[in-house]
Amino acid sequence: MTDRPPLSRRNTRTVIAGSVSLGGGAPVAVQSMTNTDPHNPAATLQQISRLAAAGAELVRVAVPDAAAAEVLEQLCLQSSVPLVADIHFDHRLALAAIAAGVAKVRINPGNIGSRRRVREVASAARDAGVPIRIGVNAGSLPRDIREEYGVSARAMVETALREIGTLDDVGFSDVVLSLKASDVSTTVEANEQISGRVDIPLHLGVTEAGAKWRGTIKSSVGLGYLLGRGIGDTIRISLTGDPVDEVRTAWEILAAWGLRRRGPDIVSCPTCGRCRVNMAEIVEQVEQGLVDCSEPITVAVMGCEVNGPGEAREADVGLACGEGVGLLMRDGEVVEKVTEDEMVDSLLQLVRSYLTRDCPSP
Ligand code: SF4
Repeated sequence: MTDRPPLSRRNTRTVIAGSVSLGGGAPVAVQSMTNTDPHNPAATLQQISRLAAAGAELVRVAVPDAAAAEVLEQLCLQSSVPLVADIHFDHRLALAAIAAGVAKVRINPGNIGSRRRVREVASAARDAGVPIRIGVNAGSLPRDIREEYGVSARAMVETALREIGTLDDVGFSDVVLSLKASDVSTTVEANEQISGRVDIPLHLGVTEAGAKWRGTIKSSVGLGYLLGRGIGDTIRISLTGDPVDEVRTAWEILAAWGLRRRGPDIVSCPTCGRCRVNMAEIVEQVEQGLVDCSEPITVAVMGCEVNGPGEAREADVGLACGEGVGLLMRDGEVVEKVTEDEMVDSLLQLVRSYLTRDCPSP
């Protein structure tokens, strides 16, 4: 690995959402959103706790109506992470969410109606110390802006500036901003443009990115590009499916840039004609065995004796496979030779002993 300086991040001001700082040099925060029925507190709390266990630091919950707003107080009291209320159009839901104890509200002032309503929400948010995220989405731009600029990065930036201005006019500036499109290049361009114009913390995401495989690629390309340029203070990966995958993907993206690390980095070779073991199965079992591990550790699983020992030696813990056998390594030293049947269990045991610093002699 080459030594390179850590990425320099764009300067943004600090916004506090419950126990989480956004912007101002704080670590890029990982967030996700529940997809359970928001009227069902048990199911929603269970999903929140799975998301938190996977590393979500903020969790957003849709609040489509008054009945969902009534459930929020219980969710806020029982959630281990700060909650964000996702609200459209109805300012009364925003007021109810703030009263229920949410840490942040996502609502666009431009779609809640009169200035009086905007002022009411801003005033309640200010009194409660609750920031507002303005979420500009390429799919729902104001008609006049769309007519002037089309559906484009420029249109998203103009919309964002208008929304910021609306809150500014009522004296509210405790905001986070997101500019999302389902198209990666538009998302990237919009965020690059806005980051040169405001110092508001940016929430990054490629919206409606798709199901797990396609959505992970689109999000990694878009968010990876922006994070690599120091843009972004919190990220949400949008995937159709279990939101726990969003959180895992977010952490992998942050780890790939060296911005944050959580859980193991599993290095495995693609295999080739030299491989004499079932690597795909072995690696899948190792991945599953470490799925709940939140400790940073590098684990190498390599398919043969050509590159295997070298890569395994560089990792904290490694397995270099041969014909029906494997060499287990720890801190660059061979610890044990095991059979193919024993490989996965022995490797996982070695990881556990490494993490508890229980040191077997090599
Ligand atoms: S480590 Fe061995 S099996 Fe894996 S890709 Fe390299 S040469 Fe092929």
